[in-house]
Amino acid sequence: MRLLVLTLGPPIIVAVSYCLTMLDGDKPTKPELRAAGSTITDRPALTATTSAQLNSRCQEEAASVKQRIDSDCQMIVRPPYILAGDFDVDQLERYHRLLVVPIACALSTDYFDTAPVEPITILFFSGDQTFREHARRLDQRSAMHEYGYYHRADRRIVINAATGNGTLAHELTHALARVDFPHIPPWFDEGLAALHEQCEFSDDGLRLNGMSNWRLNVLRDAIQHSRLHSIETLMSKPAISPERADIDYAHARYFCLYLQSRRLLSPFYRKFRQAAAIDPTGIDTLRELLQTDSLKTTDKNFRRWVLGLETRTSTPPQ
Ligand SMILES: [Zn+2]
Repeated sequence: MRLLVLTLGPPIIVAVSYCLTMLDGDKPTKPELRAAGSTITDRPALTATTSAQLNSRCQEEAASVKQRIDSDCQMIVRPPYILAGDFDVDQLERYHRLLVVPIACALSTDYFDTAPVEPITILFFSGDQTFREHARRLDQRSAMHEYGYYHRADRRIVINAATGNGTLAHELTHALARVDFPHIPPWFDEGLAALHEQCEFSDDGLRLNGMSNWRLNVLRDAIQHSRLHSIETLMSKPAISPERADIDYAHARYFCLYLQSRRLLSPFYRKFRQAAAIDPTGIDTLRELLQTDSLKTTDKNFRRWVLGLETRTSTPPQ
């Protein structure tokens, strides 16, 4: 049963409804969320490996983080997660129970099979100023044009919670993907994370389904001005270059959405992860999955599908 559709502003968390919008360390998205199924909040944290060692590591990490954030910030430790920020403990508990656990569970249905064995810290800040101040203090990062980011070396998510819950979904996808698929290439890492910046829970709450968002306009514009690379070129890139990040993000996100629409995203993820040592770009895995020798037809079909999608009226963030 779908409950409601939310359009944000600030994230709203109530017992049975939440939305997922995006956010990232690279580009902000449009906060807009969809409702979740009613069963989600009742499910246990499947990804929490509550071993004594992990508990101990979380306590150590929590003590370390506490020294580096404002003294009036609150913190809760729920292995493998440490949640902290300028919210009260009850709100942090709600973030954990209503967002972090359901998102992680849903991602484990379609993608992630390896649970974290090291702490993942998630810092929630209520506004731009405190978010940027902590980004600077923790990571010497200006975060001027960001809604949030994932600091890979420290397994730490830092977000401006006022930008919407999709930010958390985006960054949590990065954090859990790194555990499950350590050598995930940049195009797929960003495509999968960006897919969840705008998504909804399935009716049974077991899956997250990506939805169309403002990046569609970026992608269409690139197609119409012959600026879109082939999917093979995108997949071959060792990194997403800053000068065309908007296009490549949109390309990677919408290619993931395209595979999802054909029920091929989850199989692709798992086959690719398994084959990554011999197929680091995923190109061979994709060819095999689509049973084709060339991705040229795939490119053509993808572009036709993109141009046939309903136009999004939302505007990108300023
Ligand atoms: Zn990202």
